[in-house]
Amino acid sequence: MARVWNFSAGPSALPLEVLEQARDELTDWHGSGMSVMEMSHRGKDFGTIIDAAEADLRDLLDVPTNYKVLFLQGGATQLFSQIPLNLADSRSADYLVTGSWSKKAVEEAQRVAPIAGAVRVAGSTAAKGAVADGFTRFLRDEEISLDPQAAFLHVCTNETIYGVEVQDDCAHLAARAGAVPLVADMSSHILSRPVDVSRYGMIYAGAQKNIGPSGLVIAIVREDLLGRAVKTMPSTMDFAIAAENGSMLNTPPTFGIYVSGLVFQWLKRQGGVAAMEQINRRKAELLYGYIDGSNGFYRNPVDVPDRSRMNVPFTLQNSALDDVFLKEAQAAGLHALKGHKSVGGMRASIYNAMPLEGVQALVEFMQDFARRNG
Ligand code: PMP
Repeated sequence: MARVWNFSAGPSALPLEVLEQARDELTDWHGSGMSVMEMSHRGKDFGTIIDAAEADLRDLLDVPTNYKVLFLQGGATQLFSQIPLNLADSRSADYLVTGSWSKKAVEEAQRVAPIAGAVRVAGSTAAKGAVADGFTRFLRDEEISLDPQAAFLHVCTNETIYGVEVQDDCAHLAARAGAVPLVADMSSHILSRPVDVSRYGMIYAGAQKNIGPSGLVIAIVREDLLGRAVKTMPSTMDFAIAAENGSMLNTPPTFGIYVSGLVFQWLKRQGGVAAMEQINRRKAELLYGYIDGSNGFYRNPVDVPDRSRMNVPFTLQNSALDDVFLKEAQAAGLHALKGHKSVGGMRASIYNAMPLEGVQALVEFMQDFARRNG
């Protein structure tokens, strides 16, 4: 078997144990004589699977009982418009723009603004950072001006492309927002560290990084925010209808929910999100520590306190070496290190499923490459 160290930003590496379990159960799930893919979503067996997935996720994130857990489709991108359509209630909503994904969230919300409610940018780091188009740090307090009447305040807590992460679990932002519910896109760092769910009105995440296969989006929504959807809402997009139907108004992405459930069980075996945080911290310290100590051969442009533990973009001092770096890395079994096209350079995504050993292999390769090309 030839597995590579996969640094893809998403879809990304899954724990090998999970893949092996899914393989072993692929054609005959628990003696049912069929694959999870072949089961009715209304049957008892799939009921067991989705109920366990929800219970384990609630356990991992300590989700309070007044929050619904929804298994949705359409990617996090669909949620960008679904959220104002469900939560804005014809009022204006505040958005913080700190990278490509929060910017996209604004653009999608603007498309539905005529029926959902106005979109207001309450702070943006665009063009304020160290690189040309900005987005190399989170917002400073004085750069945020909140509307106390806003329907919600949207924030992307880990910007996957630029590698900017909110480090304090939004403690500060939630305190400032007061009664305005925080809505957080946690797609690229959910389950990588503990969160206080009660600080948020809603948390959502596309599955394909820290949860499971793409095609599934998980939303955790405070119950009192449900039931405000615009009247013309298609039923498949209405959070309240999803909640009333246990995420099964129609056929859900059953296999994705099943694999995500296996990931949740794997996370519990690792010691849960607090244990994951310790490992993720060590991985990030190792990689950033090496980059910062490389005498400028490698560089990460993000302000140190705002650096993401999940997505580590870096550039080579001599960008003419980019292609050879990527080619040699691939030959050394280190895959998908090419940076996003909007920032260039490299990016190592080191989600939960990437062990410390994989980051060590990357750092050793980077050291060797610098030695040979410095
Ligand atoms: N938000 C964030 C933070 C992301 O990283 C991504 C995908 N990389 C998205 C939203 C969009 O997700 P999807 O492709 O599932 O629509």
